[in-house]
Amino acid sequence: MHITRSSITTVKGPADWFTGDVYTDAVAAAPAPAPAPSRVTANLVHFMPGARTHWHRHPLGQTVFVTEGVGLCRRRGGPVEVVRPGDRVLFEADEEHWHGAAPNRLMVHLAINEADADHDVVHWLTPVTDEEYASPAVD
Ligand code: MN
Repeated sequence: MHITRSSITTVKGPADWFTGDVYTDAVAAAPAPAPAPSRVTANLVHFMPGARTHWHRHPLGQTVFVTEGVGLCRRRGGPVEVVRPGDRVLFEADEEHWHGAAPNRLMVHLAINEADADHDVVHWLTPVTDEEYASPAVD
């Protein structure tokens, strides 16, 4: 057993990966120094209203569980979908997608990722344009 007290610094999401203000707390990290055999990481991610990820994909997929607010998510080729607390979203391996807050609400989700054999968790793509973000959402 190893307890990590609440001393981990909140990290602001870099503009290379996010639009708007996003803050991440590391919930679970693979033990240092060697990541193998454990490859699972979990992050609590806070998206301020209007903030969202860039388009991206996860080599081994991703699960997000919404804990607060109202969020939006979209896979390539699909509609924008509204997600709320208690909703769980599975993004399949290498499925291009984005997720974030609604325009007028913040959104918090727990994100669970598994690194692949090359320790890659995510591959970042292009920003979500304002037009893409404003597409009509399915509730
Ligand atoms: Mn994702």
